[in-house]
Amino acid sequence: MLLRTKGKPINIDDHLVGTVTRNPDKLNENTFLLADDCVPDLMDFNCLGMLTKANLTETILFDRKAVFNIPTLDHLSEGDIISVGNDGNINTLYRVNSNHNTLLATERCNSNCLMCSQPPKDRNDVPLHYKIHKKLIPLIPKDCIELGISGGEPTLMGTLFFDLLSQIKDELPNTELHVLTNGRSFAWNNMAEKLGNLNYNKVMFGIPVYSDYYQVHDYIVQAENAFYQTIIGLHNLARYNQRLEIRIVLHKQSIPRLTRLARYIYKNLPFVEHVAFMGLEYIGYTPHNIDKLWVDPYDYQDELGESVQFLAGQGMHVSIYNTPLCVLPESLWKYARKSISDWKNDYLPECSSCTKLNDCGGLFTWNLKKHSEYIKSFN
Ligand code: SF4
Repeated sequence: MLLRTKGKPINIDDHLVGTVTRNPDKLNENTFLLADDCVPDLMDFNCLGMLTKANLTETILFDRKAVFNIPTLDHLSEGDIISVGNDGNINTLYRVNSNHNTLLATERCNSNCLMCSQPPKDRNDVPLHYKIHKKLIPLIPKDCIELGISGGEPTLMGTLFFDLLSQIKDELPNTELHVLTNGRSFAWNNMAEKLGNLNYNKVMFGIPVYSDYYQVHDYIVQAENAFYQTIIGLHNLARYNQRLEIRIVLHKQSIPRLTRLARYIYKNLPFVEHVAFMGLEYIGYTPHNIDKLWVDPYDYQDELGESVQFLAGQGMHVSIYNTPLCVLPESLWKYARKSISDWKNDYLPECSSCTKLNDCGGLFTWNLKKHSEYIKSFN
C-alpha cells in the first residue's frame, strides 16, 4: 500500500500538515485540495495548497503553495491527513478508513534488536516529528477508535513524550492508545511517576520480554542491562497503575526458553493485562540475521502451545499474532488474532481457495518471501 509520494513543490518552505479533499466546497485553512488533472483557479480558495498530477508552470501559481507532477493521488481518501515537505515529499500520516494508524515518535533507539523491523537511525529527528504530530493530532477525527505510537524508542523524546501523550489525551479522550516501547526508560522511577501523574487510562504500553534469562534477552536486543531495566521498568509502571502488555517475538533465540519465560511472566509479572506471542517479520535486520533467527513456525508449535496454554490456564489474557492458522494446531486457533495492519497484510495465491481465509490473519507482505513451508489451504 502506498503511503508516500512525491512531486515538485512550489512556495512550500515548511512542513505543512492537513486533511485532503477533492471537494472545493470543503476547503479551509487546514485542507489540501487534490486535483488529479484539472487545475482550478487557486486564487479562489482558502487552503494549505493544491496537490496535482498536472504539470504546471510555476508562473501561473504566483505565491500560492502547491505540489505538482505527482505520479498518483489514488491512494488518498477524502479526509486522510498528510504532511507535505519543502522537498515535495507527501507522507500519509492518518488514514481515515483504517484502524491501524501509528505516529512515529523517533527513529532513534537505545536497543538494537537482532530482528528489528525498523532499524534505528542515529539522528535527532524528535523536534521535526513532534512538530508534525502537534499539528496532526487536533485534525484526527474525534471518533478515532485506536491509535499507536511507535519508534525507534518513543521515550527517547524525553519530556516531549509526556507532552505528546497529554495532547492525545486531551484531543482524543475516547481513543485507545497503544505505545510500543522497550520499557527501559521506566527503570527510572520518575519516568513512571510522570505517567502516573497523567492519569490516562486509555493508554496501553506494549513492552518486549524475550527471555526469562538476562543474557538471552540482552543478546536479542543487543544492549547490556536491558533485561534488568525492562523488568524494573515494568514493575515501576505497574506501581503507577499503567496498563501493560508483554510482547514476545518467536525465533531461534527466544523459542528454547519460551515455556520458562511463560512461567516467569506468571510469577513475576502477573499484573500485565495481555501477553502477545508474535511471529517474525522478514524485514529490517531480520533478513541479515536470518540464520540466527529463523525457525519454521510449524516447528515451534509444541513450545508455543505449552506457553500459551499455561498462561491462559492461569487466567491471563493471551494472543498469538502474525501467524497463519494453517501452521497452528486447532487448539490454538482461539488465541490467533488478525493482528497485521491492513497496509502490510497479504496472502499467498493458495489462500484464495482456503475455507479459513476470512478467519486467518495471513502474512506480512514482506513475509511472502520467507514463510512457513507448511502453509496449506483448508478445503
Ligand atoms: S492457506 Fe492461507 S488463508 Fe488458509 S490458513 Fe493458511 S495462510 Fe491462512
